[in-house]
Amino acid sequence: MIDAHAHIEMFRGKAPEVVEESRKHLKAVVDSITEYRKFHVWKSWELLKPYFGFVQPTLGYAPNEARRGNWEKVKKVEAFIREHANEIVALGEIGLDFHYAKTEGERRSQREIFHHFLNLAVELNLPVVLHARDAEREVFEAIQRAGVRAYFHSYSGPKDLALEIAENGHIIGINTGIDFIPAVREVAEVLPLESIVVETDSPYMSPYRGEKNYPWNVEYAVRRIAEIRGLGFEEVERATERNAIKFFGLKI
Ligand SMILES: [Zn+2]
Repeated sequence: MIDAHAHIEMFRGKAPEVVEESRKHLKAVVDSITEYRKFHVWKSWELLKPYFGFVQPTLGYAPNEARRGNWEKVKKVEAFIREHANEIVALGEIGLDFHYAKTEGERRSQREIFHHFLNLAVELNLPVVLHARDAEREVFEAIQRAGVRAYFHSYSGPKDLALEIAENGHIIGINTGIDFIPAVREVAEVLPLESIVVETDSPYMSPYRGEKNYPWNVEYAVRRIAEIRGLGFEEVERATERNAIKFFGLKI
């Protein structure tokens, strides 16, 4: 199994333990190292660097940070991404989150910064990990225009758009919130298996109420997809692994 989207750095001092336990269950964890509030990408990078190989890093800028419109920070993160462009498997997460960005000013900042990093992904020839909430269509149109390969992480938008995303060769992350987010379940019911990866978004989105989420809980998403689709666990496990390896070009 591969967890295609986690944030192990958010466990701070416990991150090494979480990695060691994850190794017992998973082939790899794609960690989206993302600039967000006090989580600076350069610090998270140093924390996770000893585990690269098993931990496969991306670098990005959270939409909920982007709404603040801090361009000084954007430039610093951009420089860091350029410096490590050959070591990352994608650029992200980046995107739009209109659930949290309520004012026009915040949405404008999000859009400008999203497009800034989208252009960077094109320039560096990297696929993107997207965070899109209440703005899925707009994000989809932007990546189509840019011509990048994309992974919609924790997608909870409309079902018909999910199918369109898949038809256009992108992938969608079904997360461990599958049983408490109706939209995630609906998408899991209809998406072609070759368009699905599984993810935890750990430490968020635990399938077990009130608990922190860990990368090995990705097993929960595999099991539920298998049950919902009437497929074998191993078939879903193998397909989602294959999809993650192909999309990110993982060497494992
Ligand atoms: Zn995330």
